[in-house]
Amino acid sequence: MQLARQRLTSLKGVGDKQAEKLARLGLHVVQDLLFHLPLRYQDKTRLHAIAQLLPGQEAQIEGEIVSQHLTQSRNSSLLVSVCDPEGQRLTLRFFHFGFRQAQQFKRGARIRAFGEVRSGPKGLEMVHPVYQLFSEDKRPPLDTTLTPVYPSTEGLGQASLLKLIRQAMALLQQYPLPEGLPQAFLSTWQIPPINQALTTLHQPQPDDDLAALKRFAHPAQKRLILEELLTHQLSMQWLRQQEQTRRAPAIGPSRLVNTLVASLPFALTGAQNRVWEAISQDLQRPHPMQRLVQGDVGSGKTIIAAMAAIQAAEAGLQVAVMAPTEILAEQHRNHFAEWLEPLGIELAWLNGRLKAGEKRDQLARIENGDARIVVGTHALFQQEVTFARLGLVIIDEQHRFGVHQRLALHDKGHQKAGEEDTHPHQLIMTATPIPRTLAMSAYGDLDLSVIDELPPGRQPIDTAVLNQSKREEVMAHLVAQCQQGVQAYWVCPLIEESDQLDAQAAEVTAEQFRQQWPDLRLGLIHGRLKGDDKARIMADFQAHALDLLVATTVIEVGVNVPNASLMIIENAERLGLAQLHQLRGRVGRGAKKSHCVLLYKPPLSETGKARLNIMRETNDGFKIAEEDLKLRGPGEILGTRQTGGLQFRIADLERDQAWLNQAREAAVQLLAQAPDQAEVLHQRWLGEKMGYQHA
Ligand code: ADP
Ligand code: MG
Repeated sequence: MQLARQRLTSLKGVGDKQAEKLARLGLHVVQDLLFHLPLRYQDKTRLHAIAQLLPGQEAQIEGEIVSQHLTQSRNSSLLVSVCDPEGQRLTLRFFHFGFRQAQQFKRGARIRAFGEVRSGPKGLEMVHPVYQLFSEDKRPPLDTTLTPVYPSTEGLGQASLLKLIRQAMALLQQYPLPEGLPQAFLSTWQIPPINQALTTLHQPQPDDDLAALKRFAHPAQKRLILEELLTHQLSMQWLRQQEQTRRAPAIGPSRLVNTLVASLPFALTGAQNRVWEAISQDLQRPHPMQRLVQGDVGSGKTIIAAMAAIQAAEAGLQVAVMAPTEILAEQHRNHFAEWLEPLGIELAWLNGRLKAGEKRDQLARIENGDARIVVGTHALFQQEVTFARLGLVIIDEQHRFGVHQRLALHDKGHQKAGEEDTHPHQLIMTATPIPRTLAMSAYGDLDLSVIDELPPGRQPIDTAVLNQSKREEVMAHLVAQCQQGVQAYWVCPLIEESDQLDAQAAEVTAEQFRQQWPDLRLGLIHGRLKGDDKARIMADFQAHALDLLVATTVIEVGVNVPNASLMIIENAERLGLAQLHQLRGRVGRGAKKSHCVLLYKPPLSETGKARLNIMRETNDGFKIAEEDLKLRGPGEILGTRQTGGLQFRIADLERDQAWLNQAREAAVQLLAQAPDQAEVLHQRWLGEKMGYQHA
């Protein structure tokens, strides 16, 4: 019998209704239940003294009922006061209770209760504890082991889940699961076989190391964590292998790239050269490039993208360059036009706001192949866009896009050219530095290049953190600077989750400047402006026809005005570190010394203070990302990528970072040496998910 196939409705007590609830937890077959792992454990093996309890703690107490009464409010609650043998008191509070239940709590009766301690109006309380009443001579024994607590859903209590898992475990004894890891792994890592590990996790025995289990440091837990991480790595290696069996046009080395490089007013940095070398090599292979280029803000990724585009265009292929915002797409269009048009390479341009006629014209040039380079926003992957011969897809600031959007563009390039099935090369760029271990997990299917050097002459940005109360002074200081030729940004970040309010905050600030300093050349930019207006304002700022740009976070990514050297960010405490770093990265792009002021609204929490201090202490995006990871956890940092299959059942990328490398190496080994076991793991953990990733 295969537990992987046996429906849950074959278990006792599971009808259609119950099955529906279980399905909400992703539980469909018996094996799913076995891998529905405890989130944590309750410890009812001992009693706590009331005197030692702290709010927030989960505890078990025992004592004598000294009183009970109903509160007088409209929805009265039942309060039961318990006194432990040391004479300390605690209140049990019930909001819902029946008459009979209330009657049970007789004065002098003995009670044992388990629950979370919190501070109530008159000292410590437990709300709706699990409890047992007993008489002096029939004191129930304490539990001898931990009670697992499972992820649950509405209408499905722990008790029902426990019952079902008990049935599943009984089936497991009869029909053990196949082992997915070679014996050698088990001995090296000192972890138990799968069936034993599952038994320990679901039904820990008194002689198991319960303390380790509570800390998620038990070998049985390590077994499952490693297995899950390893399987995740496996799936990415599969993806990679699969990609490598696909064909892509081999794009020979380019002459025009050298022409461009020779014409630049600067020399490429060592890091840029190294990364370019890797990309150029990738393009020459007959399989799709899958490369992620990470480089801190200002490290010079755009020119690298342009070089790749030239290599493809020179070979007669088309290139799609996608940016997450219109402002950035517009700026790329300008840069690319400046670099590529002198080389005789034609550009097309797509955004959501083109007029019908203009759009038809651009689409036609893309379809007949005249336009080699197509720059745009996500408008690029709409149905109506047909490429003649797409050979390379470049995605800038990829963390701002969803996985689906990336896949959609990838699919566009998948075309039948006669018998041959070819896919475009992919170059993905991001300025969000991700700590290396995390990057390997999130982007294990991609090759990784890092531009780890800034162009010479850049000076670190000085950052000050100031109370909002200094706002007027900061404004005056900014104006004085502008009068001496400095260009500045004033950023009013998202106040609410609303474009409109956000734009208003920027409008109000712009108005304040205009009233007090009518001579200041000021531009206002936000998401609600028309595309043409945005483009005009950005161009004016670029040309130094404006001194100050008051903006929302629409300028967060990519914007490049090297002369700007002062950045003010309001409500800095509300933004993530990565976002602050991105915003701040709009300055410090030229040779001028740059400054950044972070204004915050007090009171700041301890973490809030710590976060802003990191911004003051370092300009290094990788360090900032490491700290961000510590403060916020990996989910937020990876953002949309998470929906691409990074939801772990037991592993926690932060807690388990130390094992990522081992899991990765083991996955390579397993795939080479024991593909059958690899298949077992794949079936166990991924099932349908692989299909999604292949989409
Ligand atoms: P990002 O990596 O943030 O996308 P950009 O590509 O916008 O950075 O580059 C930032 C600025 O640095 C641009 O003005 C660009 O022309 C310039 N730049 C790029 N490479 C070099 C280099 N090797 N030396 C000097 N300036 C460079
Ligand atoms: Mg950029």
